[in-house]
Amino acid sequence: MDEKLLMHRLNISRRDWQDWRWQLQNRVTTLPGLAQYLKLPAAAPRDLRPVLRAYPLAVTPYYLSLIDPDVEADPLARQCLPDVREAAFSNAGSADPLDEDGRMPVSNLIHRYPDRVLAMVTRNCAVYCRHCNRKRLWKTRETAGFRNRLAAMVRYVTTAPQVREVILSGGDPLMYDDSRLEALLAAFKAVPHVEVLRIGSRMPVVLPMRITKDLCRMLRRYRPLWLNTQFNHPAEITKDTARACAMLLEAGIPVSNQSVLLQGVNDSPEVMRRLLHGLQKISVRPYYLFHCEPVRGCMHLRTSVSAGLALMEALRRDCSGLALPQYVADLPGEAGKVPLLCLSETLKNDLRKHQDFFDNFE
Ligand SMILES: *Cc1c(COP(=O)(O)O)cnc(C)c1O
Ligand code: SF4
Repeated sequence: MDEKLLMHRLNISRRDWQDWRWQLQNRVTTLPGLAQYLKLPAAAPRDLRPVLRAYPLAVTPYYLSLIDPDVEADPLARQCLPDVREAAFSNAGSADPLDEDGRMPVSNLIHRYPDRVLAMVTRNCAVYCRHCNRKRLWKTRETAGFRNRLAAMVRYVTTAPQVREVILSGGDPLMYDDSRLEALLAAFKAVPHVEVLRIGSRMPVVLPMRITKDLCRMLRRYRPLWLNTQFNHPAEITKDTARACAMLLEAGIPVSNQSVLLQGVNDSPEVMRRLLHGLQKISVRPYYLFHCEPVRGCMHLRTSVSAGLALMEALRRDCSGLALPQYVADLPGEAGKVPLLCLSETLKNDLRKHQDFFDNFE
């Protein structure tokens, strides 16, 4: 919907609209609240009640403004509006397929690879993505206060000298205000063997106003710092998101993208090509394309691996290598993120034609 029209309807100024706190305070969390922005989801509210009880709704006005109210299966709506299939009785999948909850040496900290740890520093997000692989956590409560949680994680990292990278994840770490976020970064950076910090955040996409000058000024002091975000569809690349990414890049923070392959969102070569080219144009490096995990409540958004491989094959030749992500599946246990690769007949023939390029072929 047109932004100006929306501001008029909501009776707010552009200044309010551009204020991330206004956006957070005015998130839509109820079905009737959606009516100001869109036609309600096709299902009757009664049918959606069990879904919302299990998996709450939260969407920023900004992200809602990107949804086309006249399109039945809008790809952004699919990512943020509840669907009856999330709570279907026959729902397969597991709440925690990677057994993350079983791999925490201290609470909220996952140590799966030798040299890097992932710290789940919050459970809050600006928008609850319906495909979230941690949606099991949305309704759980923190077991301790911020300072105590942080102290326990930092203590662990201090005693693990092989850890050289700390990834702040969640939830969305940028839900904290700048001073809390700085406390997190400073605490991990102070560990002598921690060389690199990384933030995983969907804010540049769902609440780009969160990327302020003050935030960037603070973040740049914690370099080398990498930020990974999650664009899933070309319609998410707007002037606001482009500006947010540019500000981070200008602060010396490389921005990479981790998409999730989602049925009806980005599973066509045409859409994926536009997404990847669009990201390249805003200097955001496509990093991973995740095969959607078998998470309970997300099963209706999955594609098959063969569909994913066919998609990658279709993109290989018309995407710059700089714009091509690695298609991976995240597996439980030691396996971790595993590249999904397949040599199609065409590729095999290309390789055979050039056997002299290899020492040992087949
Ligand atoms: C994904 C992930 C990482 C980071 O993996 P990269 O391949 O470096 O992006 C680290 N720890 C955990 C637990 C993860 O799930
Ligand atoms: S921003 Fe990330 S953690 Fe938060 S709901 Fe979306 S996918 Fe899940």
